[in-house]
Amino acid sequence: MTVGATRTFRFTNVRMAVDAEPDSEGMLYALECCVCGKRSPLAESPGPAEEWAPRHFAANPEHHTYRALESTPMKITFESAADQLQAVP
Ligand SMILES: [Zn+2]
Repeated sequence: MTVGATRTFRFTNVRMAVDAEPDSEGMLYALECCVCGKRSPLAESPGPAEEWAPRHFAANPEHHTYRALESTPMKITFESAADQLQAVP
C-alpha cells in the first residue's frame, strides 16, 4: 500500500497587492449589526446592504448600530520568474 508522498516547497520574493485583473472577484460590501451580528447579503455594490439595514432595524428597533464590511480582492504574485515556487530536493 502506498501512502501519499510529501514534497517540500519554498516561496521566495512574493508580494501581496490589490487584484485589479478583469477576472478578479471585485469589491464586495455588506453591513453587520453590531448588536446581534446578523449580516446583509454580500454584494458587489453597497445598495443591498443599505436596503437590508433599515429592514433589520424595523424588525429589531433596539439594533441601532452597524459596521460596514468591505472586501478587497488581493493577489500574491512572484516578483520575477526566478522567484517561482521551487521544490526543495
Ligand atoms: Zn441586529
